[in-house]
Amino acid sequence: MASGGPEIEQLIQLLARLPGLGPRSARRAVLQLVKKKEQLMIPLSAALDRAVATVRTCEVCGNIDTKSPCSICSDPRRSESGMLIVVEDVADLWALERAGVGLVKYHVLGGVLSPLDGIGPDDISVDALLGRAHEFSEIVLAVNATVEGQTTAHYITDRLGESAPKVTRLAHGVPVGGELDYLDEGTLSQALRARTQI
Ligand code: ZN
Repeated sequence: MASGGPEIEQLIQLLARLPGLGPRSARRAVLQLVKKKEQLMIPLSAALDRAVATVRTCEVCGNIDTKSPCSICSDPRRSESGMLIVVEDVADLWALERAGVGLVKYHVLGGVLSPLDGIGPDDISVDALLGRAHEFSEIVLAVNATVEGQTTAHYITDRLGESAPKVTRLAHGVPVGGELDYLDEGTLSQALRARTQI
């Protein structure tokens, strides 16, 4: 039941579509925006306008930035490591950057192979990846540890073929701060297989 005007209801409905926000959280967020019109609502509206006008997808790697090629692709220091990290989504790229993985470059696939959902090789950015792979000495497949993610990793490795640079993937195992007793059997057995010498 609407308790504000149609403009407020529309705002709530739009915000409720965002990840992590249901109708209840969206209602609280809108209430806060209205109460703090000067400090929050007006700056947010201006920031959204600016973002709408400037945001674009990088034509090289698929990252989201306000220019294309993006800040990462156009940073010459990032070519020196020779490492290209392949991720499923921009969120994964941003997570790796937050983790401070170093001066590397990225390639965003925009999804993973999933025959059940009708997502094939033409629906993700594999051809563009193959087109730039030769510029790097190592390709790190940082796809999710799901069946679809691993299928995609195998597919890309096959397509890269014998002439490809070194292809690696992220280690699977015990999370930092994790307790063995709480891990699932798959993670634990994978951690043992991927053990390293101290
Ligand atoms: Zn880029």
